[in-house]
Amino acid sequence: MSAEIGRSDFDRVMVPNYAPVNMVPVRGAGSRLWDQQGREYVDLAGGIAVNALGHAHPALIEALTEQAGRLWHVSNIMTNEPALVLADKLVKATFADKVFFANSGAEANEAAFKLARRWAHNLHGAQKHQIIACSNSFHGRSLFTVSVGGQPKYSEGFGPAVGGISHVPYQDIAALEAVMSEHTCAVVLEPVQGEGGVIPASDDYLRQVRALCDKHNALLVFDEVQSGMGRTGKLFAYMHSGVQPDILTSAKSLGGGFPVSAMLTTAAVAEHLAVGTHGSTYGGNPLACAVAGRVLDIVNTPEVLDGVVQRNALLVNELEAMASEFGVFSSIRGRGLLLGAVMAEQWRGKAKDIQVLAQEEGLLVLQAGPDVMRLAPSLIIDEADIAEGMLRLRNALQRLVG
Ligand SMILES: *Cc1c(COP(=O)(O)O)cnc(C)c1O
Repeated sequence: MSAEIGRSDFDRVMVPNYAPVNMVPVRGAGSRLWDQQGREYVDLAGGIAVNALGHAHPALIEALTEQAGRLWHVSNIMTNEPALVLADKLVKATFADKVFFANSGAEANEAAFKLARRWAHNLHGAQKHQIIACSNSFHGRSLFTVSVGGQPKYSEGFGPAVGGISHVPYQDIAALEAVMSEHTCAVVLEPVQGEGGVIPASDDYLRQVRALCDKHNALLVFDEVQSGMGRTGKLFAYMHSGVQPDILTSAKSLGGGFPVSAMLTTAAVAEHLAVGTHGSTYGGNPLACAVAGRVLDIVNTPEVLDGVVQRNALLVNELEAMASEFGVFSSIRGRGLLLGAVMAEQWRGKAKDIQVLAQEEGLLVLQAGPDVMRLAPSLIIDEADIAEGMLRLRNALQRLVG
């Protein structure tokens, strides 16, 4: 790639909706990244919970290049082998009977919300259209998904928003019960709120939400775009509680870095997306599905899932030690390898400062809002990379408290 191009060109040629960090990565291997200047970083950001097997995993390179030599794209006027193989694996591994493929989390959620509306419309009539979602939730950036999402800053100024949507506080069963009625078509939630601050829902809450959905004949939709595909130590986070949704969405780690998403559902619900009701040109693309099939084969094994739990223990130990040593974090929360370190009272709003200092120390971390430092590393990150990453975080915190 041309060495003449760099970070400053972003401001010249790119729409200014992002503010990328002040270096441009050019190469990755495992949980390390290198920038244009050859500086090396420990990557605990994982492409925002996407690079489930790190960078340049040999099995994914093999799956991609093998498929690249065969067939790239046929559109949905034909089906293809990698899509059928991946759908079959997802169905066998989950509650679902049927799969719809798309290319991003927002699109999988768009399909989920449209399906819920269509299901209710077909079975109960147009008045049963209320979608209930949670405050602070994140479901994507399309107009429907920012409308369902519970962070007004993402929908403000794009009005009129999609109607028929109510928001209730996360983990507040009484608030949900109060707004639910026979007009409710679906309740949507993240089993672990990701962007909203890395907040796992309790098993009890999920069970009560399921019961309310059954009572009011509403669908339960789990957005597992961030929490799914092994991230929490089970293939999907719902498996911890045993509470089954009617619709589940997966993206991010599903492709390990290749854009692909899926909406999973039961046969009875799926039939309401009849021929012609919904679609996607790229959805089910052979390259994407070949890669995701390989990701699933590797992630859905006891070695990797148990490894997530072990790595969680290593990271939580280190983070808790730093929390008491520096007083910067008030608590460490999350599940598996989706972790949030909550800024203590006097450090509120400073998660961004940690991110900047960490990068200077050669470490990539994320935020989940202004008050939470978030980690979402590779599910197979080496112990040595964890140790080195924690060393660099310690250096960053030392400088922060200075
Ligand atoms: C990232 C995310 C999305 C949106 O996914 P995109 O691929 O950016 O469209 C939706 N829901 C959750 C829970 C997410 O974390």
